[in-house]
Amino acid sequence: MRIKGRFVRVSLSKEYVNCYVIASPDNRHALSLHFKEGRFRQLTVPPHGLYKYGQQNVFLKQRSRIKNLLDEAEHEIKYKRVLEAAHRINKAFQEHKKYEAGSIHQLTRVSLDFIKKSVFRDGKVDLAATDVTAIQEAWVKNVRLPLITNMKADEDDIKELFTEVPIYCKYIVKYLHKPGPKKILEKFALALNELSTTPMALYSVNPKTGQYNLVLDKTRIATKIVILGNDLFIASVTRVLNDIKQVPMGQKILLALHEKAFTIQPPTMSAIDRYADGRFYAKNSAGGAIAFDPGNFIVGDGSTIKMELWRHRDPAIALYHELLHIYYNSNPVKFKPVDKKSAAKEIKKTKETQETEGTTIAGGWSELEEAMITGVSFKDPITNELYDFIEDNYIKENGQELISENHFRKEYARMRGSDHYYRRPYYVKSDELTPKQIKFRLTYSYKYR
Ligand SMILES: [Zn+2]
Repeated sequence: MRIKGRFVRVSLSKEYVNCYVIASPDNRHALSLHFKEGRFRQLTVPPHGLYKYGQQNVFLKQRSRIKNLLDEAEHEIKYKRVLEAAHRINKAFQEHKKYEAGSIHQLTRVSLDFIKKSVFRDGKVDLAATDVTAIQEAWVKNVRLPLITNMKADEDDIKELFTEVPIYCKYIVKYLHKPGPKKILEKFALALNELSTTPMALYSVNPKTGQYNLVLDKTRIATKIVILGNDLFIASVTRVLNDIKQVPMGQKILLALHEKAFTIQPPTMSAIDRYADGRFYAKNSAGGAIAFDPGNFIVGDGSTIKMELWRHRDPAIALYHELLHIYYNSNPVKFKPVDKKSAAKEIKKTKETQETEGTTIAGGWSELEEAMITGVSFKDPITNELYDFIEDNYIKENGQELISENHFRKEYARMRGSDHYYRRPYYVKSDELTPKQIKFRLTYSYKYR
C-alpha cells in the first residue's frame, strides 16, 4: 500500500482484535489503527503499546458477539421461534453482565420486542398498560402450552427457558435506567415468578370461603372440607362433590373424610395444561390441599384424546382421585408385591402375618401410590416387584377394599346409567403392564339405586 508516495506495510495485529499496524518497510515508522463501529481510529502508540488496549479489545470482541446474539434473537422472534429467541437474549445478557460489554439499549429493545411478539403475539400491544394477569395468561397460552405440547422441543431447553427468563428479568432491571422499560420488565418478572402461586383467574376473582355440607337422606353433616374460590368455583365444586356422593364408594370416602380439615382450591397458573374454547384447563393435585379444576373433562393436554378415549373424564372421577390421596394419607394400607415363586407358600401364612408384612402405601405422589389410587399395575423398576392393583383378586388377597379411580369410573358410569365405561390403563406412561382393553360393557342385573 502506498501513502503519499511511500510504500507501507499494513498488517493485522496478531495479539489484539480489530487492530491493524501500518509500518514503513524498514519498520522504523509505525502506527496502529483500531477498527471500531465501521471507522478506523488512530492509536497514538507504537505497536508494543497496544497491550494497553488489550482489555478494550476483549470488550470489543464481546460487544460484537453480543450484537450478533441479539441480531439473531430478533430474527428468531420474527420467525416465532420462542425458545431460540429467549435463549439468545439470555445468553447476550449473561455476556453483558460478565464483560460489561454490549449495548444495553439493544438488549432492552429486543427484550421488549420478545414480550410483545413472542409472549403477546401482538407487536402493537401497549406493555405499559398490561397487568400481571394478562402477562401470565399470554405467557401460558402463547409460550408455555405450545412448548410443552411440541414433541420436537427439547425438554431441558424448555425447563431452561421457564427458569432462566424470570431470573433474566430480575437482573436486567438493575441495569436499566429508563423508568418505562424498567417497570415493564419488573412487572414481567413478577408475573412469571408468581405463576405457581397465582390461582386460575376464572375461579379466583373475589374469592370466598365455602364449607361443604354432606346431605344424606335428610341428615346434614357439616364437613371440615373448605372450598376456597369465587362463587362459580364454590358452586361447581359443591356440585361435583354431590355427584361423588351419589355413588356408594364416593359417599363412603366423603363420610370417612368429613372430620378431616382440608381445602379444595383452584389450580395455579402453572398447573394449566390446556387452552380450548377460550378458556384454560388445569391438572389437579393433592398435597395439604386439593387443587381442582371442576370444569376440566379431559386428562392431560388433549393432544391424544382421539386415541385414548379414557382421557375423557368426568370432574367427579377427577376429584375422587384427589380425595383418595387425602384419604390414604390418613389411612395408609399394606400391600404385598406379587411373588409368583412363593405364591404357594403364602396361602399357608396366617392372615395376621399378612397384615404385618408388606409395603405401606399412603396418598403421596410416588408412582406406587398413584398406581394404587388410579387402580393400575405397577412394577418397581429397582426391585422388579409387581403390585397388581388392576386385579380385584390381588386387592382382596391383601385384605384391602376395591377403591380406586378405576373402580369409581365403573360405579360412576353405572350410576349415570351408561352401558359402558373406560378404564384408565396407566398413570404416567404406557408400559408392558398396560392393558390393551380399556372399554368395558356394563350390564344391569339389578336396579341401581
Ligand atoms: Zn394422583
